[in-house]
Amino acid sequence: MNVPLLDIKAQYLPLREQILEAVQTVVDSCQVINGPAVKQFEEAVAKYCHGKAAVGVSSGTDAILMSLMALGIGRGDEVITTPYTFFATVGCIWRVGAKPVFVDIDPATYNLDPARIAAAVTPRTKAILPVHLYGQTADMDAIMAVAARYGLYVIEDAAQSIGATCKGRQACTMGTVGCLSFYPSKNLGAAGDAGMVVTTDAELGAKLAVFRQHGENRRYYHQYVGGNFRMDTIQAAVLLVKLAHLDRWTAGRRANAARYDELLAGAGGIVRPHVAAGNFSIYNQYIVRVGNRDAVQAKMKDKGVATAIYYPLSLHEQECFASLGHKRGDFPESEKAAAETLALPIYPELTDEQLVYVAQSLTECVR
Ligand SMILES: *Cc1c(COP(=O)(O)O)cnc(C)c1O
Repeated sequence: MNVPLLDIKAQYLPLREQILEAVQTVVDSCQVINGPAVKQFEEAVAKYCHGKAAVGVSSGTDAILMSLMALGIGRGDEVITTPYTFFATVGCIWRVGAKPVFVDIDPATYNLDPARIAAAVTPRTKAILPVHLYGQTADMDAIMAVAARYGLYVIEDAAQSIGATCKGRQACTMGTVGCLSFYPSKNLGAAGDAGMVVTTDAELGAKLAVFRQHGENRRYYHQYVGGNFRMDTIQAAVLLVKLAHLDRWTAGRRANAARYDELLAGAGGIVRPHVAAGNFSIYNQYIVRVGNRDAVQAKMKDKGVATAIYYPLSLHEQECFASLGHKRGDFPESEKAAAETLALPIYPELTDEQLVYVAQSLTECVR
C-alpha cells in the first residue's frame, strides 16, 4: 500500500468548482491588489481566532518579520525563542538585526520550556517568540507570566496551529500578536503563499496594516519604513472558500491522531505525541520518537509509507548562525528531538485502512 505524507489533491478536488469560481471572480474584477476578498478573509480569520484585528500578508515568514518590525525590534535587541522550529522563526529575528537567544524545549511537547526562559532574560531582551509547534500551543500561562514580569512582547508563531487552544484561549490571542501561515501544508493552506498577523490590540492591528504597505498611512506618505507584505487577493479568495471547511479538517486530523494513539499504544520503542493538559491540538503533524530514526524512515519508505523529519538540524547548529558561537550540546533536548522524531501522515482524508497500515508498518520497522 502507498501512503503519501500529504494528499493536497484529495482536499482540493471536492472544492475545485468553488475555488476556480473564486479565482475567476478576482481575475475578472481586475482588482487583484487589495481586493475585497482580502478584507473579508481578514475579518473571517479575526473572528475564527477570537482576535480584534487580522492583517493579511504575503506569507507566515512575513507575518513574523513584519511583527518584529512594527514592534520596533532591531539592532541591539534580543529575542528569546526555540532552536527547534522551522527556520523562518529565527531567520526573521536575524533579518531585523536582533539576536536570537535560544532556550531549550520541553521534550514532551517539543515547545519552549518556560522554566528556562527567565534565566535567558537580559536588559536587552525585548520579546519572547514561542512557536506552537505541530499543532499545540506552548505553555502560554507560564510564558505570559515571564513576559509580564520583565515587560516583554510576546510574538506567537502559530504557523502550525490555527485554531489550537490553551485552556480555552485561541492561539494568536494570548501574546502581543500571533502569526499564521497558509503555506499549502498547513491545516489551512492557500494555492500558494499567504500569511496573517492576528492581534487583540486594535491599535496595533492598524499599525500593522500600515506596515504591510510600505508604512504608508496615506497614498505616497510614509509614516514608517514597512514593506510590501500584502496578501494576494486570489489567495484570500481561495482561503475564504477553504476556511469554511477548516473545523471539519481539524476534526479529521484529531480523529486520525486518536486512531494512531490507539493502534500504537502497545508498541514498544515508539513515543507518541503528548498533548499538554488544557491544550487542544489541531495536529498539523503527528510526531513519534523512535530509536534509529533514519533507518526506520528508510524501512517505512520501502513499505510505501512516506514520513518526514521536522527538523533534522537544530537551529543553533545551522551554518548561517555560526557567529552566535553555539556548539553541539548547548540545547540537548532540541538536538535529541532533531535526531529522533518522525512525522507520520495525518492529513484528514486518510482512510482507516491506511492508518492501520501505517501503524502496523511502524511497529514492524521499529521492532
Ligand atoms: C510554515 C512555518 C513558518 C513560515 O510560514 P511560510 O508561510 O512558509 O512563510 C514559520 N514558522 C513555522 C513554525 C512554520 O511552520
